[in-house]
Amino acid sequence: MPLATEARANYDVVIGLEVHVQLLTRSKIFCGCSTRFGDPPNTHTCPVCLGLPGALPMLNREAVTMAMKAAIALNCVINSQSRFSRKNYFYPDLPKGYQISQYDEPLAEHGWLEMEGGGQRKRVGITRVHLEEDAGKSLHEGFPDSAVSSYIDLNRSGVPLIEIVTEPDLRSPGEAYEFLTRLKQIMLYLEVSDCNMEEGSLRCDANASVRPAGTTALGTKTEVKNLNSFRFLQRALTYETDRQIEGLERGDEVTQETRLWDSREQRTYGMRSKEYAHDYRYFPEPDLLPLAMSEAWKEEARRAMPELPDARRERLTHAYGLSDYDAAQLTDSRALADYYEGVVDGGADPKLAANWVLSELLYLLKEAKRQIAESPVSAANLAELVQLIAGGKITGKMGKEVLAEMFSSLKHATAVVAERGLSQISDPQKILAAAREVIAANPKQTEQYRNGKTTTLGWFTGQVMKATRGQANPQLVQEILKKELSQ
Ligand code: ADP
Ligand code: ZN
Ligand code: MG
Repeated sequence: MPLATEARANYDVVIGLEVHVQLLTRSKIFCGCSTRFGDPPNTHTCPVCLGLPGALPMLNREAVTMAMKAAIALNCVINSQSRFSRKNYFYPDLPKGYQISQYDEPLAEHGWLEMEGGGQRKRVGITRVHLEEDAGKSLHEGFPDSAVSSYIDLNRSGVPLIEIVTEPDLRSPGEAYEFLTRLKQIMLYLEVSDCNMEEGSLRCDANASVRPAGTTALGTKTEVKNLNSFRFLQRALTYETDRQIEGLERGDEVTQETRLWDSREQRTYGMRSKEYAHDYRYFPEPDLLPLAMSEAWKEEARRAMPELPDARRERLTHAYGLSDYDAAQLTDSRALADYYEGVVDGGADPKLAANWVLSELLYLLKEAKRQIAESPVSAANLAELVQLIAGGKITGKMGKEVLAEMFSSLKHATAVVAERGLSQISDPQKILAAAREVIAANPKQTEQYRNGKTTTLGWFTGQVMKATRGQANPQLVQEILKKELSQ
């Protein structure tokens, strides 16, 4: 039931997110087992990630460097010392009976991420970024139709994760969506995660509360889990904040609890209330030393930082005179931005290059269901095509045809142009001859034009273009026609 707009207007929405990002290391965080996804169950396991008694964890240096890069990108302070702790709970996919995580001494804190929110740039506070290990995966078969068989796959047990916790700074489900989009983009630029939500490498729990509009005290929150797409996050938060408002309007109180999103029913339902909340009995992990972060190590992470999306967008607008919109599109992914800059480096005019990449090339890629990195037309080849167009050798219209052929045949632009005899006719004498033929063949239209019906110039231009198989330079055609027709 949609909520009355008046009721919504009486409340402000407050949202904070807890995001888990799987790191792209080749081996797990505390052992040498592979992190590869999709292999047969339990083929990447050893005494450490199976949680066998007496096995000792060894920290993966690469996981720490990746986590640091994420923390730097989120403008966090990296603590010179952090510590791993045991988070104790029982679940079949957690054979040790505890998860090694970070608790009161996290890797990094006090950061922020800047994004569009409420029509302007806003900073969302990042409370902390910490490292932890993933649990295994349970698979349930038969549910709900028959007897259930449950299986455990421990390939994921011990895969490195970072958890990113935001301050309660988001003010709408739309802002939560935008935040997660920007966060994912940054992680992809950093190449620390593939952020594949379907495979669980990006997971998000959302905390939401409402409060009377204009007040500052936080209301009681609920936490929504099981959000495995950006759309679900937004829908679940809309459902959940409306549900809270509805209750408050009825005079009920919000119960602090964890709720699950049911995408089939498009609603959340209560899973456990805070009364049954876990007491994880955190304590320092005795098998691992505190994590001391040297300046040299921090410097190593800083040096490995790529240019991030915001900085790259800014640079593209200034260096190439692009609109904010085009620059934002072109920096959507690092691969696309690299491709675009490759076209410019290849000698193409930056604005023309932007148009050809964003409209024609992306269109062809979408049709072929390919990523930019798999483009059959290289940046250098597109640069050649754009130069042929800019130099007047072929028209833009021919350019589209040529690009389509380059895309399917892998040929160079000049080769396609030569083979098809597509060069643009810019020789005024040739165009004049064609124009005169058209005029001679259409005496009625010519007379009308000369009697003042000059709106037919477009029609005449079309006739000359047709006569030249689309190869004449259209601007020149118009100029010459105007002169010839007014004689
Ligand atoms: P908990 O102790 O329940 O884990 P935390 O204070 O650690 O809660 O916060 C977890 C997440 O919930 C953070 O992202 C935080 O910003 C968010 N959060 C905390 N309080 C609220 C609130 N009243 N409304 C919305 N989000 C909140
Ligand atoms: Zn292992
Ligand atoms: Mg907490």
